Amino acid sequence: QKLGLNELRERYLKFFESKGHLRLASAPLVPKNDPSLLLINSGMAPLKPFFTGQEEPPRKRVTTCQKCIRTPDIENVGKTARHGTYFEMLGNFSFGDYFKNEAIPWAWEFVTEDLKMPVEKLWVTIYEDDDEAFDIWHKVVGLPAERIVRMGKKDNFWEHGTGPCGPCSEIYFDRGPEKGCGSPDCKVGCECDRYVEFWNNVFTQFNRDEQGNYTRLTHPNIDTGMGLERLACISQDVDNLFEVDTVWNILDYICKTAGVEYKKSEKTDVSIRVITDHIRSTTMMVCDGVLPSNEGRGYVLRRLLRRAARHGRLLGINKPFLYDVAMVVINESKEAYPELAEKAGYIKKVIKIEEERFEATVDQGIVILNDFIDEIKAKKQEVIPGEMVFKLHDTYGFPLDLTREIAEENGLGIDEDGFKKEMDAQRKKARDAHNSKDTSAWSDSVFDKLDKSQKTAFVGYENIVCESVI
Ligand code: ATP
Ligand code: MG
Ligand code: MG
Ligand code: MG
Repeated sequence: QKLGLNELRERYLKFFESKGHLRLASAPLVPKNDPSLLLINSGMAPLKPFFTGQEEPPRKRVTTCQKCIRTPDIENVGKTARHGTYFEMLGNFSFGDYFKNEAIPWAWEFVTEDLKMPVEKLWVTIYEDDDEAFDIWHKVVGLPAERIVRMGKKDNFWEHGTGPCGPCSEIYFDRGPEKGCGSPDCKVGCECDRYVEFWNNVFTQFNRDEQGNYTRLTHPNIDTGMGLERLACISQDVDNLFEVDTVWNILDYICKTAGVEYKKSEKTDVSIRVITDHIRSTTMMVCDGVLPSNEGRGYVLRRLLRRAARHGRLLGINKPFLYDVAMVVINESKEAYPELAEKAGYIKKVIKIEEERFEATVDQGIVILNDFIDEIKAKKQEVIPGEMVFKLHDTYGFPLDLTREIAEENGLGIDEDGFKKEMDAQRKKARDAHNSKDTSAWSDSVFDKLDKSQKTAFVGYENIVCESVI
């Protein structure tokens, strides 16, 4: 049964409403009162106060579709079939109300009866000691024992320091050997894309104390997370997340802008998918109030935009274009997130300004880096020195991972330690200058140090961006 991404979201939320859950809107990507997290990365993250008991939930059963950003997955984006830096997570939650006996059969009911996924392609994993979960999957649901895989703590036990924690059970879909790595050892849990993990059910049933003791909670919780794009990928029987209906429309628009065809070469396809993903995450981040900057979430946004812009150049797009693609993202998702349509003009402006700003320096930087890479190769060296990486960062606004990526494309590494040293030295200088009462330190040294051949507009621009768009 082929359902669109927007339809699947609604199907899921309706299903859990029919099981007594209250539907809550997605929280913004910027966490509220949670300094431990830069950006919301799961459905449960904004609900933490309900799990810890700090706040009273509006109902003990809640269901959401939550916007998520996971930058640690950035290296996988465009390369695996299943990772994006942006995705939506469907979830049903129980705050001390129902537990495994309900959560597992409901998950199965949704997947096999509501969505009618073929039972013979489904596999589940459980935590190795969780006999309770095994019995429910085997005896209540009726899943054959050989389709229930026991996994260790690393994979199937959810824990974050001290506090509530517990085993989890994940549902996988077997896309067939032709989608796999071909290894004779390929099985559930393999990093390749044959068995796609799509739904994680976490059973928060213990409290872990400072000594590492686990005690059972009197009111255990349920926290589940299912990737909406992964679900759509399975339901629509397409190769990867980027070929799901709504995401495809973005990808297709990028191809048309660049005048390239998808599925002609793997290298081009990676660039197309990276841009598709990054424009989704950045559009959502800007909509939720993040502005490009040199630290924290603003830097995450900047990195993603610059990486996308650079991949645009690899496709031959030599002008700002991401702001235009953002309109497609807005169109595809505005039904579920009306704030996108309300802020469309603002989003476009923020992205365009950042693109223009990057454009002013990036080409210069790329030329310099390419010359340098040729030199290094001629000398048969294998690593780009830290000072060069720093210069690209400091003068040309290259985020570290951008330089790393370009180096890798040329079979080179970068001297990360050397780069870090330069960064630390610069921070120290800035601190010393800031701490010194003598303000003349600012007036001379800052300008003296600027390489006169470079555009100095780069620094002061920051304020203009903020003022002109808010
Ligand atoms: P994987 O092992 O494939 O990286 P995960 O175990 O890190 O996934 P969870 O933390 O269990 O993922 O998150 C719950 C669900 O969210 C996953 O089962 C998946 O459907 C979805 N998900 C997680 N990370 C991503 C991502 N980067 N892009 C798209 N969907 C994701
Ligand atoms: Mg992961
Ligand atoms: Mg996993
Ligand atoms: Mg998982």
